[in-house]
Amino acid sequence: MIPIPKTDYPRVIIIGGGFAGVKLVKKLKDLPVQIVLFDRNNYHTFQPLLYQVATAGLEPDSIADPLRKQLEPVRNFFFRMAEVYSIDGDNNRIITEIGELDYSYLVIATGSRTNYFGNESIMQHAFPLKQIPQALDLRSHILQNFEAATITEDLMEKKSRMNIVIVGGGPTGVEVAGALGELKKSILPKDYPELDFEKMSIILLEGSPRLLGGMSDVSSQRALKYLKKFHVEVYVNTLVEDYDGHSARLSNGERINTHTLIWAAGVKGNYPEGIIPESLERDRILVDEYSRVKGYDNVFAIGDIALMKNADHRNGHPMLAPVAIQQGNHLAKNFRRLIKGQELKPFTYLDKGSMATVGRNKAVVDLPGNASLGGFPAWMIWMFIHLISIIGFRNKLVVFLNWVWNYFTYDKGTRLIIRKFIPKRLKKKELEATA
Ligand SMILES: Cc1cc2nc3c(=O)[nH]c(=O)nc-3n(C[C@H](O)[C@H](O)[C@H](O)COP(=O)(O)OP(=O)(O)OC[C@H]3O[C@@H](n4cnc5c(N)ncnc54)[C@H](O)[C@@H]3O)c2cc1C
Repeated sequence: MIPIPKTDYPRVIIIGGGFAGVKLVKKLKDLPVQIVLFDRNNYHTFQPLLYQVATAGLEPDSIADPLRKQLEPVRNFFFRMAEVYSIDGDNNRIITEIGELDYSYLVIATGSRTNYFGNESIMQHAFPLKQIPQALDLRSHILQNFEAATITEDLMEKKSRMNIVIVGGGPTGVEVAGALGELKKSILPKDYPELDFEKMSIILLEGSPRLLGGMSDVSSQRALKYLKKFHVEVYVNTLVEDYDGHSARLSNGERINTHTLIWAAGVKGNYPEGIIPESLERDRILVDEYSRVKGYDNVFAIGDIALMKNADHRNGHPMLAPVAIQQGNHLAKNFRRLIKGQELKPFTYLDKGSMATVGRNKAVVDLPGNASLGGFPAWMIWMFIHLISIIGFRNKLVVFLNWVWNYFTYDKGTRLIIRKFIPKRLKKKELEATA
């Protein structure tokens, strides 16, 4: 058993320190329960700004916050950094990489993971954007390709090193494409004056007939217009069928040579093993309107992983941060009711709108009631909402200062190639081994 002090209080185990899990822990703080949070990382990630880390706009530290520091004021709280492997519902126990632990109540808030729709070659060679190490890896990879482009005489190879393909025209794909367009326009030509940026293509591919499928038509059209201003080529109704790390084959028969294919085409639920099959649907965990997992009395699921179907959301709620936060908040209130022996209340989602930014001065915002905004006002709203949502005062300040600096200097200060360190000695030996 994992060493956690014994208590007379019921033990609530929460798996996942994302938006849903963190909100729940904070709101449980005055309740007579022992809270044990598990996460494979010791920090919370603010995923909506991952693309800025990948495109050298922000350093990773400013979109992450240590979970122990963040949850310090919560009484009866324990954090364990560990991967949770599986759930044993019959014995009210979880099995993790550091041992096992029993629970009175279990909350699964494990979020989602990249969905490659079964395409092995894409999974092997594409760059996903779901975690901080992936964003850093992508940043280094893009910059390493520009370094390589400066030393090759082969014009095809040079272009292939500079080209970037983004797959998926949802908010993440659109935001990455806009940020790369900005890099190409204002920053990379200063760093690499010997390269001809007319030869570089940034291509955004979307399988459906339009960008930002979850947003209004007006916002979709606006986003397309803004991307064109950054010389991003947009192909709709187009899928990637195969990618070998150098060349992508599209559903329209075309081939694009690129060393960088960014995969922003979808996510799926990320659940530990052991959950009964009847509780799973489309890779998410089926829950009732109280977030209780189908087939269990004392197991709950919140956030991206939870599939809660109701009259307004027949296919479940969108996998978005506000849904996760509101479900964490609501479940805490229901725990309070549960402990007092009161009746639980059903969850209702308050949709405050959706938004995406498309580079400097440009964003699209859909407000409740069919209203929508574009351009500079939408960009200001986007920045304000993201700034107040980032966890930690220091992070808010650092992000704000970075944005102001980038805006006035047309610069992005984190264009560093940082990869896992391999000693030169080892490199030489590796080369000898392959010679
Ligand atoms: C690139 C990107 C951009 C996005 N942009 C937006 C946006 O602009 N607006 C918006 O509303 N939403 C956005 N989203 C979606 C939003 O981030 C998610 O909806 C939200 O993070 C869901 O919160 P969650 O708590 O359910 O899961 P997460 O925030 O993903 O947290 C899950 C946590 O569980 C941990 N975990 C998972 N499995 C295990 C395990 N087995 N053991 C231990 N720990 C585990 C993970 O380490 C993680 O900390 C974006 C997502 C991505 C990837």
